[in-house]
Amino acid sequence: MFKKILVANRGEIALRIQRACREMGIKAVMVYSEADREAKYVKLADEAVCIGPAPSGLSYLNMPALISAAEVTDAEAIHPGYGFLSENADFAERVEKSGFQFIGPTPENIRMMGDKVSAKQAMIKAGVPCVPGSDGELPDDAATIRRTAKAVGYPVIIKAAGGGGGRGMRVVHTEAALINAVQMTKAEAKAAFGNGAVYMEKYLQNPRHIEIQILADKFKNVVYLGERDCSMQRRHQKVLEEAPAPGIPRKLIERIGERCAAACKKIGYRGAGTFEFLYENGEFYFIEMNTRVQVEHPVTELITGVDIVRTQIMVAAGEKLPFAQRQITINGHAIECRVNAEDPYKFTPSPGRITMWHPPGGPGVRVDSHVYTNYYVPPNYDSMVGKIIVHGDTREQAMARMRTALLETVIEGINTNIPLHRELMVDAKFMAGGTNIHYLEEWLSQHKR
Ligand code: ADP
Repeated sequence: MFKKILVANRGEIALRIQRACREMGIKAVMVYSEADREAKYVKLADEAVCIGPAPSGLSYLNMPALISAAEVTDAEAIHPGYGFLSENADFAERVEKSGFQFIGPTPENIRMMGDKVSAKQAMIKAGVPCVPGSDGELPDDAATIRRTAKAVGYPVIIKAAGGGGGRGMRVVHTEAALINAVQMTKAEAKAAFGNGAVYMEKYLQNPRHIEIQILADKFKNVVYLGERDCSMQRRHQKVLEEAPAPGIPRKLIERIGERCAAACKKIGYRGAGTFEFLYENGEFYFIEMNTRVQVEHPVTELITGVDIVRTQIMVAAGEKLPFAQRQITINGHAIECRVNAEDPYKFTPSPGRITMWHPPGGPGVRVDSHVYTNYYVPPNYDSMVGKIIVHGDTREQAMARMRTALLETVIEGINTNIPLHRELMVDAKFMAGGTNIHYLEEWLSQHKR
């Protein structure tokens, strides 16, 4: 096992990884930008290294600074967390070339999944069902694009091969709007991701977003840890998640889970990963794979009892997965609310000093957050300041626990989306379960403030 790991991230996930390291008797080297100097996980760290000024391009995305931080501290491995460089194949390659273990899949697998066109092609080959669409990148030729759309059937969605974070997508309802939409998405994709390749998918009207968590070691042992329902989204970004997904027969989950595990075996995948699907009329359609730990991993941890971050570290160190598929059981129900520093209805960011932080507690309540009373939320990064996660024997109990937890939570000095979560937890349709990816946007437009 490693003696020392460098945590190449910030915020709650940096703290989450630090906690896993502590438990495992591994020293964690924390890095920080000048804006994160006051972070508690930095102050309480075994070692901490400043990697640059506040803008992430100069710090958390600065590969040479991160690698030299690992060198000067004698770390053996680098955990990239999520976001920033976690799905950057060049970074994974540089980490390994510099003699460190990258805690994640191989650079080849990251590259394959980072390009959504090659990811879909690999999945089709591995027998994972995908959304029907163009087989690969769209050409420039307008007649071919029109023909493809006709064959797929309107509405279609044009997506950037290099897209992420809900950006680089455009829905097209009519042939008249098609070519212009393709050109605009291409131009935006080129500017935002440095890759102008786009592809086409059928736009599913009312799907749910269901994803399968997998863990794999380098001996081709793979397990799937059930599913998560992440359909509550705003602008294609997840707001709250739960596991299991209400109303989906276990048999269907097992069937798709086995397909995902088989695909991982086939491509030689190692580490944690998530297969994202749209689910409509009893069918799953693969949309992309994330080759890292996800924000919403705790809901899976609570229903399976598996520590995903710990397992990531174990398999990166060359150990075997400590469990087989038949040992994975699903217990109860878990819900996660992402707590963002933002206006709850206008969604404008609300950075600043937290003058009062009182997190909830009690049975079945977990809070993953790096903030504290007097913490200054810097304006430079993602607005998420933490996650409240609850577990119950049933979905009803989990919802009741979440309502209590949200009621107890006190955050003063900044605005957060807690009021929105409080309303959603008593919303009749959410409580019934199984809402689709458009539900939250529709709810928001009907509850205008
Ligand atoms: P990103 O990498 O930016 O998160 P995804 O491909 O995972 O992009 O898609 C994000 C979200 O966009 C999905 O959860 C879903 O809400 C919507 N979406 C993507 N593809 C489709 C599609 N073919 N039909 C309907 N909605 C889609």
